[in-house]
Amino acid sequence: MKILITGGAGFIGSHLAELYLQQGYQVFVIDDLSTGSIENIEHLKPNPHFHYYLDTITNRQLLRELIDKCHVVVHLAAAVGVQLIVESPVNTIETNIYGTELVLQYASLKRKKVMIASTSEVYGKSMKKQFSEEDDLVLGATTKGRWSYACSKAIDEFLALAYWRERKLPMVVVRLFNTIGPRQTGRYGMVVPRFVRAALKNEPITVYGTGKQTRCFTNVTDVVHVLKLLLEKDQAIGEIFNVGSTEQISIEDLAEKIKTMTNSQSEVVYVPYEQAYAEGFEDMLRRMPDVSKLQRYIGFTPQKSLDITLQEVIDWIRSENGESRE
Ligand code: UDP
Repeated sequence: MKILITGGAGFIGSHLAELYLQQGYQVFVIDDLSTGSIENIEHLKPNPHFHYYLDTITNRQLLRELIDKCHVVVHLAAAVGVQLIVESPVNTIETNIYGTELVLQYASLKRKKVMIASTSEVYGKSMKKQFSEEDDLVLGATTKGRWSYACSKAIDEFLALAYWRERKLPMVVVRLFNTIGPRQTGRYGMVVPRFVRAALKNEPITVYGTGKQTRCFTNVTDVVHVLKLLLEKDQAIGEIFNVGSTEQISIEDLAEKIKTMTNSQSEVVYVPYEQAYAEGFEDMLRRMPDVSKLQRYIGFTPQKSLDITLQEVIDWIRSENGESRE
């Protein structure tokens, strides 16, 4: 079997590539390294079943050839990370909408199964305690650039559903909640690698806003395992799934936990959002998935607790590998 992973040199993509190589698949990766990195796939290169192309998914000819060659496509290539999104809105919208449309178009022509990666961001400003797949999306004003990411991903979902309903393209949408683990960079704003790096250097840990906002963090190995199970499940075709853990923590508690785990002398500093991000930023105060649908379909429970996962991130950043990717 052959699988194409767009964005396969990214944090989640590289873990997914690893999983499928272990399963004996031929893995094809296309990645322009805009947020991914060659180090993420360095250890996979010697594997004769691993093939990578450093190009954008908007290289239509290459994309078409790769989709033609593979049995299944996981589309992870996207502009991600709040910082990047606020700073490069044009690129965010173009990559996330046009890129996805190309993947769907070619997959539909060749009748290949596709998984489209969406995000918990699509729930927007909803104040619900837990978000479920049928909820209304509560997105912010178009003048606030930060919502362009959520909107672009919502359009991806509409597109994927349209291809399924109208053209019978077999597809699954996954709404990924905060995924963490080794190889995630803090460069684009992701909180866990940022806090761990700061803690290890005894530099200030910057908590944005009140720090009372909460997130549920999921280990990347749990996430890629779920993606694989969903791809194997025929009943999942045409469906949308929340993917994430329900273990919730506030950002200020996360800062303290990381400080303790790293035995750090870092000071925890509170930074107002206006200083942390470009204009137009709005945070989500809470973000917990309702995973009952996922449990119904594949019986998923995350295997790795937050503590175990944070320890993995700390160990990785302490290792030489982590140091080189600040
Ligand atoms: N955050 C923070 N300090 C940082 C980076 C992020 O306090 O250095 C906060 C951020 O404002 C948000 C939470 O941590 O409330 C999670 O941020 P991240 O960008 O990792 O993910 P997302 O906002 O997409 O959930």
